[in-house]
This record gives sequence, C-alpha cells and structure tokens, in this order.
Amino acid sequence: MAVTVLAALFLFALVLTAFFGYKYLGKKTTAPENINNEKCSICRQKFEKKMLIERQIGDYKLLYFCRECIVRLYADLGIKN
Ligand SMILES: [Zn+2]
Repeated sequence: MAVTVLAALFLFALVLTAFFGYKYLGKKTTAPENINNEKCSICRQKFEKKMLIERQIGDYKLLYFCRECIVRLYADLGIKN
C-alpha cells in the first residue's frame, strides 16, 4: 500500500515537473514576440511599442500612452477650457 502511494506521489511530482517545465519553455518561446509590446501607463492594455507614445519622466522612468488614452486626455482638457 505504502509503495503504491509513493509511486503515485512520484508520478504526480513527475507530471507537475513536466507541466511547469512546459510552461517555462512556453514562456521562453513567446518572449521574443513580447519584446515589442508595452503596456499603456493609463489603461494598462498591451500594445505594440510603435503604437504608443513614449515619454521619459525624470532620469529613468519611461511611460507609454496609447492613442485612446491620449484622445481621452485631450477631451478632458477640452472640457476644462
Ligand atoms: Zn491607454
């Protein structure tokens, strides 16, 4: 009985390792594709970098803004004035 439980545990561990290993590999292969993607700093949606406006704040912080958010900001400014 104990041997069966041990074997089951071992199998379970093996399956888990395979599963996480697969996930890790999957992440690695999709990484190059995501290099050109960046999140908009306002709506947090992912876009291609070329679709975003990039602004440096201070010495190091880079912010990205998508077209929709910029249009919304522009509209907000219009309401104020
Ligand atoms: Zn946005």
